[in-house]
Parts: sequence; C-alpha cells; structure tokens
Amino acid sequence: MSQPARVSVLGSINADLVARVVSLPRPGETVLSSSLSHYSGGKGANQAVAAARMSARVTFYGKTGADSAGDQLLAGLRTEGIGTKQIQRMNGVETGMALILVSDAGENTIVVVAGANDHVDAEYVDAVITDVGFADTLLLQFEVPPEAIRRLLDRLPPNRPKVIVDPAPARDVTDLPLARIDVMTPNRTELAALTGVDDIETGGRRLLDRGVKCVICTCGSDGSYLIENRGTTHFPAFPVHAVDTTAAGDAFAGALAVFLSSGDSIAVAIRAANAAAALSTTRPGAQPSLPTRREVDQFLQAHPGHGIPSFAPFRG
Ligand code: ADP
Repeated sequence: MSQPARVSVLGSINADLVARVVSLPRPGETVLSSSLSHYSGGKGANQAVAAARMSARVTFYGKTGADSAGDQLLAGLRTEGIGTKQIQRMNGVETGMALILVSDAGENTIVVVAGANDHVDAEYVDAVITDVGFADTLLLQFEVPPEAIRRLLDRLPPNRPKVIVDPAPARDVTDLPLARIDVMTPNRTELAALTGVDDIETGGRRLLDRGVKCVICTCGSDGSYLIENRGTTHFPAFPVHAVDTTAAGDAFAGALAVFLSSGDSIAVAIRAANAAAALSTTRPGAQPSLPTRREVDQFLQAHPGHGIPSFAPFRG
C-alpha cells in the first residue's frame, strides 16, 4: 500500500459556544437561551480534520491556553488521528473562542476571542519549521497573525512542502512572499477583497502577476474556477441538496491538500475537493459535516459525468 499523504496545518483552533435564542438581543437587552452547545472550530482545526478524514497523516501547529477548553480541543484532534505534539499550551492566555448566537430566524452574531491563536508568532514558527517541512503539503489560513505566515513562507525550503493558502478572513497580502504559494483558494468575496476587482479571472490574474503559482476561486453552488497563466477552467459544483454550507471551504481545502499530496493532477484534485465540499453542505455543522475518504470516493463513483469542465480540456 502506498504511504498516506502527509499534511501539515498551521492555524487557528477555537472552542465554539453556540447559544440558541428566539431573537438576537439589542444593545443593553438580556435574552434567555434555550440551549447551549459546544463545538470544536477554527479554520485551521477544521481543515486539519477535513484532511485527516480524507486519510492523510496530519500534524497540527498552533497554540491553545493551558485550560480545560484547550484539553478538550486537543483530545478532539487526537480522536481524528491528528498529531498534536507541536501545539503549544500557553499559561495565562485563554484558548481561542467563538461566541455565537443563533436566532429562530436563522440570523447570527459572532464574537471571536482570538486568545492563544493571536500568539502564533515568528518565534513559534522557528521552533516548528523543520517539522512542518517534512510534510508533502502545508495548509495555511489567515486566522493567525500575518508575521507567522510571512515567517513560514520566508523560511520554507523552495519546493517542498507544497503550500496552499486559504486567505480567510481576507487581509492585505502585499507584504507576503507570494511566490512561495503554490495554490491560493479564496472564495469570491475574498478574491474581490484581496485584489479590488469583482471579476474572477481579472482578480485571479492579479494574484498570478504577484507571484502566486495558481488560484482556485471557490464559488459556492457555481463550483470553482482554476486560474492559471495558461487560462481559466471552470469546475462545476456537484448537484446536492445543501442544508448548511458552513465549512464547505474547509472541506474543499482539506481534500485539495490530500489529493495534491498524493500526486494527483490539479484537475483531479479540484474535482475531488468540489465533491468533498458538496458532501459537507448536505449535513449541518462545521466539523461534524466533513466527509471521509470513503464517502468522497463513493460519491465520485456515483457521479461519473459530473464536476468535469465542459468547455476546456480536462487535464486529468
Ligand atoms: P466558503 O465556504 O469558503 O465561503 P464556498 O461557498 O465558495 O466557500 O464553497 C466552497 C465549495 O463548496 C464550492 O467551491 C463548492 O465546491 C462547494 N459548495 C458550496 N455550496 C455548494 C452547493 N450549494 N452545492 C454544491 N456545492 C457547493
């Protein structure tokens, strides 16, 4: 049997607290909640779980507090088979947390307390960089400070690991060494925020001009667009009954990393990532909705003619 793909993820890990309320409180108002639920979250942790469920060997890099929320999050990652030894536990700093209110009308308000995630810095990157470099692919997002991302991109060896950056939440990238990024995966809103243009192809080309090797713009039920110097290819979404699109982008990034790590072409990897993301939209929640490798393989087999570009050669 071939070796499993090795994926490193450096990013955020949060405890999400979700309270259901009849209607969202106005300033100064107190409302009662009918239920309080605890979930594991943070884009970094979500993408690590997405890759682990796709059968990769995943190591997570980041920071939590030395508190019970941190204990629970690490236990959750270990249950998924994810390596947690490099996660730094911080005394005197709380674990990152998202406080989420959801109303009966489906509206929400979210307060994110970055906590330990905000302490992922250049010094931490220097301590883990050798270990990070053993992976086939490194997945990064923008929920940790820019100095950590910059330091990583500056210090990684030139060709390995492959670097995938999910620029969420979008922020200025002008001071990042973009030439070290193999794939950037903004959604439509993020691409517009990063480049100042609404058009997908023009926006993607701006990132290519700044050195990114290829851009994949994810577009919800419209699938995704691969923008490369040689042209743009549309990969249609899979037909599913979507009930909750939370973490669809994380399912996409995790699957993309695993297929690229295994040596699949970018076209094969995008089709599989669209399938994993589509499956995640058919189930509620973030991490609970992320599919396994077996589910994605079966889904792809059940949809042989789907997800393939129609007006450009499919470079499988
Ligand atoms: P994000 O979750 O980061 O905002 P998108 O909304 O673009 O990202 O979704 C990521 C991917 O999830 C899309 O490229 C697509 O493959 C899949 N997806 C999202 N919504 C749907 C949907 N309604 N039907 C099928 N696939 C979907």
